[in-house]
Amino acid sequence: MGMFPVTRTTQPKQKPADDALAFGKVLTDHMFLMNYEEGRGWHSPRIEPYGPLSLDPATSVLHYGQAIFDGLKAFRGEDGRIRLFRADRHAQRFNRSAQIMCMPELPVDIIRQSFDALVGLEHDWVPRKPGTALYIRPTIIATDVMLGVHPAHSYLYFLILSPVGTYYKEGVKPVRILASDSHVRAVKGGTGEAKTAANYAASLAGQRDAEAAGYTQVLYLDGVHRQYLDEVGTMNIMLRIGDEVITPPLAGTILDGVTRNSALTLMRDWGLRVTERPITIEEVMQAGRDGTLREMWGTGTAAVVSPVGTLGYRGEDVTINGGQTGELTQRLYDTITGIQYGRSNDPHGWTS
Ligand code: PMP
Repeated sequence: MGMFPVTRTTQPKQKPADDALAFGKVLTDHMFLMNYEEGRGWHSPRIEPYGPLSLDPATSVLHYGQAIFDGLKAFRGEDGRIRLFRADRHAQRFNRSAQIMCMPELPVDIIRQSFDALVGLEHDWVPRKPGTALYIRPTIIATDVMLGVHPAHSYLYFLILSPVGTYYKEGVKPVRILASDSHVRAVKGGTGEAKTAANYAASLAGQRDAEAAGYTQVLYLDGVHRQYLDEVGTMNIMLRIGDEVITPPLAGTILDGVTRNSALTLMRDWGLRVTERPITIEEVMQAGRDGTLREMWGTGTAAVVSPVGTLGYRGEDVTINGGQTGELTQRLYDTITGIQYGRSNDPHGWTS
């Protein structure tokens, strides 16, 4: 640290107890900020007390949604060390989102330094209870004050932190997922690959309808044929049919999930047959009916893996693995969390 000017808060917050943490409700005492102007580039990196941003009502992000973010976690190991999981890969994905949304990229080492500086300052906010973490949310918004629709000339990068609880209070728990034939998340040539605000706005109605029908999240199908699996609201999707592990390919409509990449890497290390290929919902439902669909799970930073116990599609539900967490899903969970908390070795150098 010491690299960026720091204005410390004079009113530190009361930290919540580790077992009272919900997702993203409590933010830490400080935030990292940096500005961009065309011609000048990124400038004025600084840490300030956490607090409201002041924005003109005509600020372009508020109207046209030119905004990107990412999400990763810092973990306190049993050895007391704080580790970030795959921070560089998250930083690269942040820049990929920036390219897609016509926003200026940030050098990966600057992004990394901002994570380290803020997490270092807020190290006491990294919770201690097993399964907890400090969530790291980098964001860039367009700050031109102007109502025309075009890429902005000025931007704000900000970084905020939130202590988060264990996703699973009583072990990994299977969820009910609804494959939607009425809501679409993204199409080829669109913004599906970017972690941009609009994709999440577009997912709200489908999520609301899935919840009303008794499911936890939506499994989106491709926007053109409404047949091929894309991804879940905030997770990539994987399944195991017979001896093949299948996940939809990165073809522009889904997020290049860091957990997805980690799971694929591990399963290939383990010698499993892993295929990134298009797969239709009909193939999955049929495998569910005939019993060859052995496991299905989502991957994402929030829960690491989320087993799918029930998959619904057009009024039919298939139960997967008797509604229990599958063996491979559990192994991925144990291995990835082992690396994150420094319990197991880290052959790919994912933590730092
Ligand atoms: N897809 C979407 C749409 C997401 O929001 C997320 C969460 N970032 C994921 C997949 C999973 O990505 P990751 O494993 O990098 O968290």
